[in-house]
Amino acid sequence: MTHEETALMLLRSCYGYDSFRGQQWDIIKHTLDGGDSIVLMPTGGGKSLCYQIPGLMSEEGFAIVISPLLALMNDQIDALQQNGVPALALNSEKSDNENRQTVDLLMQGKVKLLYISPEKLLSEIERWSTSITDRICLFAVDEAHCISQWGHDFRPEYTQLGSLKQRFSHVPVMALTATADRITRDDIAKQLSIPDAKLFVSSFDRPNISLNVMTGSSGKVKFRQIVQFINLHRNESGIIYCLRRKDTEKMAAELTRLGIKAEPFHAGMSVKEKLRIQRDFINDDLNVVCATIAFGMGIDKSNVRYVIHSNMPRNIESYYQEIGRAGRDGLPADALMFYSYGDVVTLQQFARQSGQIEVNMDKLRSMQQFAESGVCRRRILLNYFNERFDHDCKNCDVCDNPPERFDGTRYAQMALSAIKRTGEEAGMYMVTDILMGWSKADLVEKGFNKIKTFGVGRELSIAEWNAYLLQMLQMGLFEVAYDDNKHLKITDYGNEVLYGRQSIELNRFERRDIKKRQSPPVEQAAIPDIAGPAEPPKIMDKVLFEKLRDVRKAIATASHIAPYMVFSDKSLTAMATEKPTTQAEFGILYGVGEMKCRKYWRPFTDAIRNYLNGNK
Ligand code: ADP
Ligand code: ZN
Repeated sequence: MTHEETALMLLRSCYGYDSFRGQQWDIIKHTLDGGDSIVLMPTGGGKSLCYQIPGLMSEEGFAIVISPLLALMNDQIDALQQNGVPALALNSEKSDNENRQTVDLLMQGKVKLLYISPEKLLSEIERWSTSITDRICLFAVDEAHCISQWGHDFRPEYTQLGSLKQRFSHVPVMALTATADRITRDDIAKQLSIPDAKLFVSSFDRPNISLNVMTGSSGKVKFRQIVQFINLHRNESGIIYCLRRKDTEKMAAELTRLGIKAEPFHAGMSVKEKLRIQRDFINDDLNVVCATIAFGMGIDKSNVRYVIHSNMPRNIESYYQEIGRAGRDGLPADALMFYSYGDVVTLQQFARQSGQIEVNMDKLRSMQQFAESGVCRRRILLNYFNERFDHDCKNCDVCDNPPERFDGTRYAQMALSAIKRTGEEAGMYMVTDILMGWSKADLVEKGFNKIKTFGVGRELSIAEWNAYLLQMLQMGLFEVAYDDNKHLKITDYGNEVLYGRQSIELNRFERRDIKKRQSPPVEQAAIPDIAGPAEPPKIMDKVLFEKLRDVRKAIATASHIAPYMVFSDKSLTAMATEKPTTQAEFGILYGVGEMKCRKYWRPFTDAIRNYLNGNK
């Protein structure tokens, strides 16, 4: 058997997958040939297989996987053990006794993958006899950006890892990360002493995540839209990011009142409470986590079906990292972002208070450009990360519904003239009230109900004004004076437009409804083509899917693992589509390896048979 045939056989028998994805095989082959590598792949891209397969393929040896987060390590091992892969961890959370047993098993050649933290490895490896060290077939450094001071997650213990290559020059090193920038990448090569490492860069696109932005809704309207969205995704898992701790608490409380299983999560909570919430979320006992940015690191849950940003994030890097937590299983997932004037004000203030005002203001501007975009949002995102992407994605709101451009000069003049007549002494909300002709008390007090532009914009709705004023601000017709009560000040460009020397275009605002995500196309269930070409495509049975979800949950609870470790949503989709009733039919489905087939074919096929009988 060739190497490739062996690898494919393992892929089927251990993981239940039929082919390698993207560059996975190239990376594995390079490693089997003894080469060092740096692997850049987005979250959910399939990095783990790249080092697990070489470990499994090594007859006598084992692969060492260096990983910074204990929780992730334990989850990965649980998942691997489900597939019958002999993987163990050495770390400070385990008792000395457990760790000693692990070393014994290593000696006996019974471990194929050893997960370990960097500091533990460096102290441990000194004590190992050559009978162990001679059998190391690979050092895989996961989350390798932690080595770089330039990265966002620097860990000093990573910087010692360069000594490995110096000492074990014949053992290949594979560094893996989802952080792609060049400085980090160069730093990884230098610090790990792998100057000749081959670079494998995958596309950072996550085509299964649908990108959507809602402009102009705030307060109650926004909340209603969020509830509407969640109701369309009732049993699914999702994360709602909020800017402040108190917002996460308020959001969770209000959702709970409506019967939605939601909890807040933020840095101010106790470690114990945070761990409990993570567990409940991973175990599908909790559907929605309302979180500040603190949530998400160290969670590997593959069936997060949506990420909502109830406010615009501060930059595209954070946005992309956060939405990346959705749809790791490759099934359709949603990213929904709300964007309003209030967000711009808050984020500009954050940027001003930060040490690096200019950089952060620039990043915020790029984020706003994304939010206001009239072209495919995925184009903007990937181009921001310097990846060429030159077609429309057909999976974002702009592609679905390209905004109409129109001559907005008249509206801009209304707004600018209102600003001018307040003596540039009014903030955004008051200017909007003036345009709408709403006699609110503070406005009347200042006499702004007497100015000529009062009520001049009544032909538009408040939502339209919210959206257009944001566009005008973004365009630079006026600015927010943070040192003067956030009053709006007209810029030179604004004056040009006000006096008719320049015209502007706006994106037509349309009130959009929260839509249900399209069901996954059948081919995405990724089922081997056992049906002949003449048969009509099979459709996923949603009722059956929910029944199988219950079976999965019961098994997970009984064996103290997370439901997604029993089977991914993608495997359940395959079951609810193919409806296998025998072990043989079950065993060829996506994600059903030999071990899982033996363990689980009965409960799942029983449920399917019962369902089919009940349905007749
Ligand atoms: P990463 O570590 O890059 O975030 P993972 O290794 O966790 O990504 O892989 C993401 C998901 O894709 C997992 O559910 C994994 O089992 C699945 N996957 C990886 N490679 C393949 C493949 N070749 N075929 C099918 N599914 C795969
Ligand atoms: Zn698009």
